[in-house]
Amino acid sequence: MKLILKNGIVYDPANGINGERMDICIKDGKIVEKVRGAKEIDVSNKLVMPAGFDIHSHIAGGKVNVGRLFRPEDSLRRLVPKRDALRGGSGYSVPTVHLIGYDYALMGYTTVIEPAVPPLMARHTHHELNEIPIIDKACFPLYDGNWFVMKYIAEEKMEELKTYVAWLLWATKGYSVKITNPGGTEAWGWGKNVHDIDEEVPYFGVTPREIITNLVEVVNELKLPHSVHLHCNMLGEPGNYEITIKTLQLVRNKDFEGRQSLHVTHLQFHCYGGDSWKTFESKADEVAKEVNKNENVMIDTGNVIFGDTTTMTADAPMEFDLFMLTGLKWANKDVELETAPGVTPYVYSPKVLVNAIQWAIGLELALLIKPEKVIMTTDHPNGGVFTDYPKVIAWLMSKKAREEMLAKTHKSTEHRTLLSSIDKEYDFYEIAMITRSNPAKDAGFPNKGHLGVGADADVAVYDINPLEVNPSREPKKIERAFSRAYMTVKGGEIVVKEGEIVNVVGGRTFWVDATGKVDRSLIEKDLDYFFKRYYSVNLSNYVVGEEELRRSERVCVS
Ligand SMILES: [Zn+2]
Repeated sequence: MKLILKNGIVYDPANGINGERMDICIKDGKIVEKVRGAKEIDVSNKLVMPAGFDIHSHIAGGKVNVGRLFRPEDSLRRLVPKRDALRGGSGYSVPTVHLIGYDYALMGYTTVIEPAVPPLMARHTHHELNEIPIIDKACFPLYDGNWFVMKYIAEEKMEELKTYVAWLLWATKGYSVKITNPGGTEAWGWGKNVHDIDEEVPYFGVTPREIITNLVEVVNELKLPHSVHLHCNMLGEPGNYEITIKTLQLVRNKDFEGRQSLHVTHLQFHCYGGDSWKTFESKADEVAKEVNKNENVMIDTGNVIFGDTTTMTADAPMEFDLFMLTGLKWANKDVELETAPGVTPYVYSPKVLVNAIQWAIGLELALLIKPEKVIMTTDHPNGGVFTDYPKVIAWLMSKKAREEMLAKTHKSTEHRTLLSSIDKEYDFYEIAMITRSNPAKDAGFPNKGHLGVGADADVAVYDINPLEVNPSREPKKIERAFSRAYMTVKGGEIVVKEGEIVNVVGGRTFWVDATGKVDRSLIEKDLDYFFKRYYSVNLSNYVVGEEELRRSERVCVS
């Protein structure tokens, strides 16, 4: 298909384009310089950006399904009937697979990463990702409580660790290395947790510090496209900001040959001061200072949005603590030698001081950290549902919108946070950075997140004139425009037109093959031993075949 999107107001930060009136030419699924005989679409005075890229959203796999199964009330909250060629579905915070694809496309997003896959659940995850329409996907397997990882680190076998990292990416068709509460999920197997980066994991004798630094080193040596994706220790605990800063400092001033080496995810949950829920306060400014001077780190925010959601993470001890706090229902999954996710519902209320502070911290981080280091997420569905991203965009662009919300929160919020003293307001260029160019670059997708020649023709058009609207004064208009794209183009095909899905295309699944850089025979004996002795499945049944991915996109790093 050949297309020209004519006369839009374009924001494309990766190419330095800041609100210029121009045409976007598309041919064979790619952005091109010029195109003849193309269908012309008039997008005069509309906002044009590369399509959105979500680097961290829990959309498929074991815990997402636990969430669906044990929350029928969430399912009933939103029932979408079948319509024309569109499938029906249900679910508000854990929607069914087809709705996920439609909802992202309707917001102008075309790429989403599932960030926490127990390797043993990779097959299930991929089969579910296959069913999510329209968007491109990738997934991050979990390496945090993995017995191979801890054994190799304890024995100081770096070559074996590197080989295992590459092998597991290949076996799971995964994209990068995810670490969740390093060491904590293994400790959870003994009813424990680790409370500091230097506390030893029971029976393995390794520390979170060693797990993080060794995996960072290995990922750097393998030159994987995305850095280690880290969920720090002690998520959600009062006083955890000190551990977060210590963790960030593990890579500061280190020479990684210009490669960014650590992505710290949903930072909001890791910036808490105080020593109890009573003294809970924001330490976003302290953490932001560290991020700003740390050249090797990128972060995503993990914003909180008020409302009812389902929390789910491979950080099982944290989910148990949350369950003890709320008394709501709780589910836990123990995944053999690998990890242990938990799931529990949660309601963020503006009248609950801790929740209001969490809401403020997410915004403080985005406003205090340099925009080039920020990626906007809600850690869907943990901090809020992804369909509420436009609310976060409106808060970031309008101090007035923040003040209006702040006025509805617990009266002490203002004293425990800095939010009311921050004047910064994002502009459209910066919004395009934190939702498009930054995540695509950080994740290592050279053809996503921008509109330069050769990029994937993934484009979002919003029905608002960015040269006329005043986001600071009119936040509602901003929220409305970003909620429903005027047009979404995916791989050169128009999938959304005037806020409706008009075409359901299939998305690709990206995975990284680094096996060319390692010698598998180095770990053959250990694989054989662990699978025969401990795993409930055979090694041959464990590996996800490339043919199981409906549209496989192998990224080779040899
Ligand atoms: Zn997450």
